[in-house]
Amino acid sequence: MVIVSGMRPTGKLHLGHYFGVIKNWLNLQNTDECFFFVADWHALTNKYKDTKDLKDNIYDLVIDWISSGIDPSKSTIFVQSAVKEHAELTLLLGMITPKSWLELNPSYKDLKFNLFFQYVRDFLLGKNIKVDEDKLRQIVYDTFYHKKDIDFEYLEKSLMDFSASDNISKEIVFNLKEGDIGKDIDTFGFFGYPVLMAADILIYKAQAVPVGEDQLPHIEITREIGRRFNHLYKPVFIEPKALLTESPKLLGTDGRKMSKSYGNTIALSDSEEEVNKKVLSMKTDTQRIKKSIPGRPEVCNVYTYHTYFTDKNTVEEIYQKCTTAQIGCIECKKILAENLNRFLTPIREKRRELEKDKEYLDKIIIQGNEKAREVAKKTMKEVKEAMGLMF
Ligand code: SF4
Repeated sequence: MVIVSGMRPTGKLHLGHYFGVIKNWLNLQNTDECFFFVADWHALTNKYKDTKDLKDNIYDLVIDWISSGIDPSKSTIFVQSAVKEHAELTLLLGMITPKSWLELNPSYKDLKFNLFFQYVRDFLLGKNIKVDEDKLRQIVYDTFYHKKDIDFEYLEKSLMDFSASDNISKEIVFNLKEGDIGKDIDTFGFFGYPVLMAADILIYKAQAVPVGEDQLPHIEITREIGRRFNHLYKPVFIEPKALLTESPKLLGTDGRKMSKSYGNTIALSDSEEEVNKKVLSMKTDTQRIKKSIPGRPEVCNVYTYHTYFTDKNTVEEIYQKCTTAQIGCIECKKILAENLNRFLTPIREKRRELEKDKEYLDKIIIQGNEKAREVAKKTMKEVKEAMGLMF
C-alpha cells in the first residue's frame, strides 16, 4: 500500500509523538511504500508570524525521525515545500471544493476553543485563582458548542461562579471579544488547509493514511474532494482509507495530556540528567503521602510509564511491592528513569551523530524531495489532462 503521513515542524519530538506516530511509522516502513513529509506549509497556517526557527525545526524533525529508526532507504522522507506540485494541486482542488465543506471542518472551531480555554485558564492562574481544569474546560466547551455562535453571556455568567468575581469574568470576556485570541487563524490559509492536506495525500495516490481519531474528518474531506474530482473529470485519484492509530496512554509528567504548552513533555533528545529530573518530579498516586501507605499503581502515572519502558517481570514486581507498601515512590521512579534512559540512549546517540553530519541530512532530504517530486509530477500530468488544462 502507498502510505502518506506528515508532521509539522514545530520543535523537538517527545515521547507522545513517538508512541502516537513514529512507532506506527516504524512498522509501516517495513510493509508498505511510505512517504513521510515535513509539513512546513502547514506549520505556516497558524504560525505564520514567527518563522525564525522554521528551518532549524525542519532539520530537528528529520533528525528525530531518523534517530528513532525511520530509515531513508525504506521510506521517502521529504519536505512539503520542496515539492511545488502540492501547491499547484491545492489551487486546482480549491476550484472544486465547496466552501461549506471547509466551514464544517471541526479543526477550526476546535483550535479556537483550545486557544480560548488556554487564555481563560492562564488568566485565572495569573490572578492566583485555583483552576479545576476539567470544570473550566466544560464551561469553555459549552460557550463554544451549545449554541451556533460563541455564547459570551454564558461564559461571563459561568466564570462568575467559578472565580467569584464579576470584574474578572467581565475582563476575560472583554479581552476575548476585543483581543487577538483566535484572530491569528482567521486567514485564507488556515481556512483552506484541508484542501492542502487533501493535495498532500491525493498527489501520491495514497491508499491509506495513519491518523488518530480526531483527524478522521480530514480524511473524509480528502476522500470527498478526490471523489468530486473523479466524478467531474475522470478517475485520477484513489480514495485513501484511514488507518486508525490508537492514541498513546502516556501522559505528561504532571498527569495531563503530554504537550509542550503544558511544559510536561519528555523529549526524545532530553539528556540523561533532564530525564532523571523530570521523572523524579512526576506525580504519583496522590493518596500515597508516605511509603507505609499501600499505593494504587492503576492510578499512578509512573506505573503507566513502567508498562512502556520496564520489562514485564519488573512491572509485576513493582505492582506487587507498591500495593503492599514495600517500595517507595522515589525508588520506583529511579528504576523508571534508568529504563527510560536505556530506551532513549540509542536515539540520543544517533541524534548526536546526525547533528554533526548536515551534509548527510541534506542528501537524504534532497533525494527524498526528488523521489516525491517524480511521483507528484506524474499525477499532476494526469490531473491537468483530465481538467483540460494546456500546461
Ligand atoms: S511506588 Fe511506583 S507505582 Fe506505586 S505509587 Fe509510587 S510511583 Fe506509583
